[in-house]
Amino acid sequence: MKIMDFRSDTVTRPSEEMRKAMAYAEVGDDIYGDDPSSNALSKYTAELTGKEAAIYACSGTMGNLISFLAAGRHGESLLAGKRSHVWNAEVGGFSAVAGLCPYPLDDDEGIPKVQDIEPASRADNNIHHPDTTILCLENTHNYTGGIAVSPERFAEVAREGHRLGFHVHLDGARIFNASVYYGVDVKEFTKEADSIQFCLSKGLGAPMGSMLCGSHEFIEKAKKARKRLGGAQRQLGIVAAAGLYALKNNISRLSEDHANGKLLCELLINGGVCVEKVPNMTNMVFFSLTESCPSDEIFVNSCSERGLLLNALSPRRIRLVTHLDVDREDVERAASIILEVISQ
Ligand SMILES: *Cc1c(COP(=O)(O)O)cnc(C)c1O
Repeated sequence: MKIMDFRSDTVTRPSEEMRKAMAYAEVGDDIYGDDPSSNALSKYTAELTGKEAAIYACSGTMGNLISFLAAGRHGESLLAGKRSHVWNAEVGGFSAVAGLCPYPLDDDEGIPKVQDIEPASRADNNIHHPDTTILCLENTHNYTGGIAVSPERFAEVAREGHRLGFHVHLDGARIFNASVYYGVDVKEFTKEADSIQFCLSKGLGAPMGSMLCGSHEFIEKAKKARKRLGGAQRQLGIVAAAGLYALKNNISRLSEDHANGKLLCELLINGGVCVEKVPNMTNMVFFSLTESCPSDEIFVNSCSERGLLLNALSPRRIRLVTHLDVDREDVERAASIILEVISQ
């Protein structure tokens, strides 16, 4: 039985061509700055995002954390969406490691509202308040359903952050899904942020890693923070080569994942499933289980017995993610398995 894995776009495996690029990558010691493949990836990334510099981070979580360490100080405040990844899925690193005091904002539309930023920042001279330093935005927005926030909306909120003197960090784990969705250069988003983290390991198909981009000054600080976390590595070129391959070959094809996400959404709706966020924007489809389904676990297990892997993200809320290792046919089979399991 063929297993179709829709749990996340992180499950993609390196292609034959990517593996060749890794196998023959030129390497050196990246901590000495001597790894040609890592240097090439940093240079390419900086140009792609329109920033002065970029460095590799072991994961998106580490990329975000490095940014918080470089831009903030213990006791300062971080503004982030209530449903953001940094708040919900990074084990509280911004507090535990970076010492930042979080302030949650409503982000049900994928981004906080402009008018909520200033009150949340408590940018007054009140002696009781922590100083706010960082505004963290996410695009595309994972837990609200893969919403791609438009360049206009993104710019408006980021500029409000700058007006108030904050460092604006973009958790752009899937920022290329947003640029592909709107058909714009990714710089339309990155130019509004002081730092950007994006994942090589998700829809772009590399086995691991993220990039963190910003000014020379910021990236120098980030390098130190990365070293402190134990995230600086030696012959990084082996994985940097995969990242470079991913950036050169796998960005524009994200539109196929979006088309598959849309198809999946339509097939489920036609079958009467309660799908969120219609029309579907990027590569994620969320739906709720109705009363007739006894539990998440039973539903997930019944699908997996039929060769379909998916995730229950919160009680009765199921997520499927399309990516480069699933095709149109898999989407059709996935939809029919879901409909079959629900009807039982
Ligand atoms: C996956 C993800 C991250 C973290 O990436 P890891 O490599 O899994 O640590 C950060 N932000 C968002 C929005 C993500 O989806």
